Order: sequence, then C-alpha cells, then structure tokens
Amino acid sequence: MTLETVISRTQKAPAKPETHSGRLTTSICPTCKMIIPATVYYSNGKVLMQKDCSKHGRTIALISSDSKLYEDSFSYNLPGKLHLVKNYSSEYTGNCPLDCGICSEHLQHTCAALVETTNRCNLDCPVCYMDANAGPEKTPSLEQIRGMLELLLRSEVSPPSINVTGGEPTTRRDLREIIKMAHSMGFNDITLSTNGIVVSKRPQLLDELASEGLTEVAISLDGLNDEIFLKTRGVPLFDTKVKAIDTAINAGLSITVSATLVPGVNVDQIGGIIEFAKKRHIDGVNFAPIAFVGRYPKEFLNASQRLTIPDVLREIELQTKGEISVQDFIPVPCPDNRCSTMTYAFNDGRTLFPITDYLDVKAYLDVYGDKVTCGPEGCDWISQAIDKLWSMSAIPGSQRVIKNIDVLSPKLRPAKDVMTIQIHAFQDVWNFDTERIKKCCIHVATQEDKLIPFCAYNNLYRGKQQLPTMKE
Ligand SMILES: [Zn+2]
Repeated sequence: MTLETVISRTQKAPAKPETHSGRLTTSICPTCKMIIPATVYYSNGKVLMQKDCSKHGRTIALISSDSKLYEDSFSYNLPGKLHLVKNYSSEYTGNCPLDCGICSEHLQHTCAALVETTNRCNLDCPVCYMDANAGPEKTPSLEQIRGMLELLLRSEVSPPSINVTGGEPTTRRDLREIIKMAHSMGFNDITLSTNGIVVSKRPQLLDELASEGLTEVAISLDGLNDEIFLKTRGVPLFDTKVKAIDTAINAGLSITVSATLVPGVNVDQIGGIIEFAKKRHIDGVNFAPIAFVGRYPKEFLNASQRLTIPDVLREIELQTKGEISVQDFIPVPCPDNRCSTMTYAFNDGRTLFPITDYLDVKAYLDVYGDKVTCGPEGCDWISQAIDKLWSMSAIPGSQRVIKNIDVLSPKLRPAKDVMTIQIHAFQDVWNFDTERIKKCCIHVATQEDKLIPFCAYNNLYRGKQQLPTMKE
C-alpha cells in the first residue's frame, strides 16, 4: 500500500470558519513589566497586539506581518501530550505566567529542556538574550546540575532532549563530566550549544564529548563575513565558526547552525547561510528573529517593524530563488502554533529538494491531529513518524529523524542527507503572549526545581529576585 493510497482514502474535515482576530490574552508592560490584559487583532493584513498599562499607557506591538499565515497556523495547534508528564513541579495559583514550574494548567510536556551550565561567556556579544557575564556568577556545581537533570526525570515519563547551554558551556573544565553524567542518567538526545571558540582551538574536545554521549552541536552563525560578526558578536569570528563546524562534522556529531536575524544587519545572509549549510551537508539551520530581551544595541530595537516568521519565510524563498518556498514550511504542532515553523529538504550538496515536493505533509499532520478518518489499514504509522519529525525534540540529522523520514518517503531520496530548516520566534516584553507560554515545550530546568517555559524565563524570571505582579 502506498502513502498516496492512505491519504486518498482519508477525508479531510471542513475548514473552521472563525478567525482568531480579537483574541484576549495577557502580556507585559514594556516599562514596568506588570502583567496586563492584551488583545491580539488583525489590521491591514498584519497581526497586532494592543495593551494598556494604568501607569504607562497604551502599547501597540507587531505580532505577525501576515494575518493569513498567522490564522492558518492554528490548523496545526494540536493538543499537548500531557500523558507524558509524570509530575508537575508547581501548584496552579491562577497567576500565569508568574507561577511557572510547570503547573497542571500547562498545556504541554517538556519536549526539550535547557540546562544552563553557567552565565559566564568567553564573548561579550552586543546581542545576548541571557545578558551573559552581567550580574553575579551563576555556575552550578556538578551536583546542582545533577539536581536539574533529576527534576527532568521526576517530571517526564521518559528523559526529554536536553540542550547543554550557557553562557558558554565550553568554558567549564568539567563539561565532559556533565555530558557523561547526563548520558548515564538516561538522557540520549544531548545537544551542546556553543559559540565555537573553544571547539576551534581544541578539536579533540568534541571527540571526547561524543564518546561520553553528546549527540548534537548547535553553533551560532549569524552570517558569512566578519562585518556581521562585529555587529552581533563584537569580534570577527567567521574563520573560527568554519573551523568549529568542520570539527563537529569530523567528530561525527549532528550539527545545527543558528542565526539570530537582525533587520538591517544580516537578513540578507539567509540564502547564503542555507547555501553554506547545503555544501557542507550540515543537518540543521535555525533562524531566530531577534527578540528584544537581555542585551542588544539600542539601535536594533524596533518592535513595531520587527522581523516575524512570515518575513523570514519570504526571505528564504527570495534568497534561495525558490529552491525552498514559503509553502514548504509547516508550523510545529507541539509548542504553540505561533512559535515555530519548519521543513525538511533532501540535500545532494548542490540542490535542496523540499520534502513537501514528495509528500503531502499537511495531510499527514491532519492524520496526526485526528482531523481525518483513515482507511481500513489504519494510519498510526503516519502519525507516529510525523510526531517524531515535526517536534521540538527532533534533533536534525539524528537516527530518529532519518528513520522516520525513511518511513514516510521510502527510497525517494537518501534520508541520511536531509537538512532541517526551522524558524523559531522568541518573545520579548513587546510581543509577549501568555497564551503562547501556556503551550511552550522548551523549558529551562532551574536550580530551584522548576521547569520554566523559555520565553517566560527570559522575560520574567532570569536574574530576578522578585517577580512582577499581576494587574489588579
Ligand atoms: Zn507599566
């Protein structure tokens, strides 16, 4: 039986007529950080958020530059997998997002957890969401990191993907012990986020970490020339990045490059970064429009004309000359549908062939979302494969990704050479939407035994002794 047979025997549910304009949520006052009511609405093809602070007046923020893509994304807002939660670490008090932990009102389990191993970094980047090196040093001991990992084991039915991050985690001398400990505790999907400086100087480091269970390296790559690195990272880094990337490839690790996109600085690098990744057979490319959180140059701040997911999609189509198009991307259903979108493309080193040219991924996602009735043969196998691919826990280039692409597209093209392209829109005090936070599946594991949704952590919890309050 072919995939096409299954899909042709399925019947799509009628499209929902209502729109999501006028949604009520809560957000943050950019000035006093009070949690205040907000309305998200459509205007002239864009999506805006209006909120009023009793002290600081009205703020109108751009949420998305394309109300149609925004609206369409709700088709992929699938229910959370709460059966994968074993324990909640917080009591629900009705003060979302100020009582995160996560609590029983949270709508999704932890797909990927961030383990911050230090707030110290060997760079002082002008752009840094966590404002590394500011404030007192926060470098948890090995035992404290074990506590963070035990929290994840207590919270989840099975160990989630973890991202060992910082600051800069390679500045720790005991990084090898951290990876070894995590692996021995049962964590099998372990990503290291790094700027690549130490890796480029000590190539054997990645071999050592791989031997202890590291599976993936994520290296920041904002562009392909030093002029850009000077603006975003403060120092010329291009040669260092190339060396670090080649080291990771040689170590046999999955590798993802991530660019923080700043309008007027590096948006024109999108096509070049994809081309660079294609030639090197890099497993994943991530684009994150800059979120105005942590540290960033004042001249970068333009919340009303910010880059949103549809802008990045259009630039990808334009800059790859249609090799990858807007239509190839599908929102990731496990976090909130407005947070992330992705696609896969077969890569022969010269051309990218988007998976959507071969498969009706949207129909498969409808199967996954139980929006269609399957034929008598059933279609659990489609759901199971899609579930592993369109997920924040899918590690680009991993055996699991390769296996499941093979399930969906047997013998079409070699799945071992597939590139993941993903856009993730992180939130700041301007576009913060508590509704999105409630479905977040990327959680920071803290030393205080809490799992905090990443964007809530960055905007409300990080480095704070006292949280802001709810508006009365
Ligand atoms: Zn205010």
